[in-house]
Amino acid sequence: MGFPVSYYCPHCGAVVELERDGYLADKSVTPYPLEGWSYADPTDDFEDAEGVRFACGESDAPGLSWTGDVVDADDVENPTLASPCGREFYLSFVRYENGREVEAVPESDYVVIGGGGPSGPSGPRGPDAGPRGPDGF
Ligand SMILES: [Zn+2]
Repeated sequence: MGFPVSYYCPHCGAVVELERDGYLADKSVTPYPLEGWSYADPTDDFEDAEGVRFACGESDAPGLSWTGDVVDADDVENPTLASPCGREFYLSFVRYENGREVEAVPESDYVVIGGGGPSGPSGPRGPDAGPRGPDGF
């Protein structure tokens, strides 16, 4: 038995509801696949996968429905985009290896800790924003 969980497209903000098992823990929804994760289509048996690949507005899967709502959230890349936009985005489940949660390596926002400039202690302190968590409604 599944229950509907809602997500939104990180490109345009279109809201989708996916019916799935409750034991899966969401890690994040991203506009690109996380390195090391493998993704299934919503029509596949994604409960056994590490994540789901969505195409915005596409709902071939029985447990998938687009509500017609559009979220106006800060992390929506392009709120003015026609919605649904048809682009792909990725829902990643939390993965464990040897009992420890696997952290994703961000593709960009990689903070290079350069150091030792003559201009004194620069204290490279990156923003605390980690990978985006699942949005809490
Ligand atoms: Zn979209």
